[in-house]
Amino acid sequence: MQPTPTASPAPTRRGLLAGLGVAAVAPLVLGTTRRPALPHQSAVAQATGGPAVLLRRASLVLTMDPALGNGPLGALQDADVLVRGGAIAAVGPALAAPPGARVLESSGKLVMPGFVDTHNHLWQAMIRGGCTDRDLFGWFRSCTDPQRGLLTPGALHSFVRLAALDAVQSGVTTLVDWVDIFSYDLVETYVRALAGTGLRFTYAMYPPAPDGALVAKVKKELVDPVPLGSFQIATHAARAARSDNLAHWELAQDLGVMLNSHVLERPEMRADDPVGVLDGIGALGPRLLMNHAVHLTDAEIAAVAEHDVRLAHCPLSNMRLASGIMRLSDLGRRGVKVGLGLDGGTNDTSDFHALMKTAIGLQRARTTEAGVFPQVHDVLRMATLGGAEVLGLADQVGSLTPGKRADLLVIDPAALNFAPRFDWTGQIVFNGRPENIEAVFVDGRPLKLGGRLVDVDTARVVREAEAEAARLRSA
Ligand SMILES: [Zn+2]
Repeated sequence: MQPTPTASPAPTRRGLLAGLGVAAVAPLVLGTTRRPALPHQSAVAQATGGPAVLLRRASLVLTMDPALGNGPLGALQDADVLVRGGAIAAVGPALAAPPGARVLESSGKLVMPGFVDTHNHLWQAMIRGGCTDRDLFGWFRSCTDPQRGLLTPGALHSFVRLAALDAVQSGVTTLVDWVDIFSYDLVETYVRALAGTGLRFTYAMYPPAPDGALVAKVKKELVDPVPLGSFQIATHAARAARSDNLAHWELAQDLGVMLNSHVLERPEMRADDPVGVLDGIGALGPRLLMNHAVHLTDAEIAAVAEHDVRLAHCPLSNMRLASGIMRLSDLGRRGVKVGLGLDGGTNDTSDFHALMKTAIGLQRARTTEAGVFPQVHDVLRMATLGGAEVLGLADQVGSLTPGKRADLLVIDPAALNFAPRFDWTGQIVFNGRPENIEAVFVDGRPLKLGGRLVDVDTARVVREAEAEAARLRSA
């Protein structure tokens, strides 16, 4: 049985746009009302692209494209961003608004590409704030394993939607979800919940017994029809699972998608030799995404760099689970492509500013050097274009380069935690919080405007998740 779609007594786009300083008075209709839609319904909504939108005279635009502006982040002052057909049409001063375009007065605001979350497990919203005195293995034993077994389609839908919307309101526009939930009806529910939020997502499916037919069916029937959905094969690389790892890698190659593995999250996992296993099956390369990779040796860092393996760094999760500190500064020195990941319930909430600040702070704590990699511009790049590069999506998103899809954020720095202006670029990382994110666009469609999610009854989303959690507690 599918969950009931959410009704939408939420604020209208018109009202929200007024809050954002929209010049036009006609209602802005960018796609249909977003609900937990069937994938093909999302396809209809997302294929429209909607009318053009001009973000006018933003005080600071970080394009992430050095060719478009100043410094490594391609910064522009008092610049416009024109979105047309769901894509970035132009960035620069005093752009003309095409006929029918909606104009968002953005003076005093900051505009940048949306955050790319390279590693998450949204369903774990059901165990947020739980098992806080446990390490990874204790977390598996006490929280993850017993709770996952209780999931019903309705509960799963509620938790995934809750966490996905939390990610959207925090500025995440692309998200990779590593999912070890197996039955077809639960997978269908999961994908439906993700698709209904309007996020750009990658469903990384862990097939327990490498079931090629099931995986191909999920990809073809559930994920491929969602215009903003893509697919990966997930695995747990380890000596004892070598034959499964090989089957997963072959499956990924057959489907032309990336292999996505947890690697060396805890020191004890050295005994599993996951990098050696991945090397042995021939998976080391740009089609491999390793999560965590906290305990890499010098030789493994060299191999990762040599083969252009992609990494997801999850500093908040690694701190919470006492997993250790990734050797990010060593990886950065070698030019390894690393993105940032929120990592599900182990980071409890979806705060990309905290994630960026922690990525900087842990390396400084580890080395006692303030000049160590990453610096502010490095983490901002990791959080956007760097994450897109990790996922092989940099030709589509990650910067405000004209022609790319319009995934972007508007940040309002006029807040008690953010003002006054000193160095806004640094303040995005060190001062920013999700509530400073005023607007979020994915593929040119507004998912958040005026500081509120568009066409989402947030109270109802929370209420339904609470009801499902209460039902599971009493089961
Ligand atoms: Zn994970």
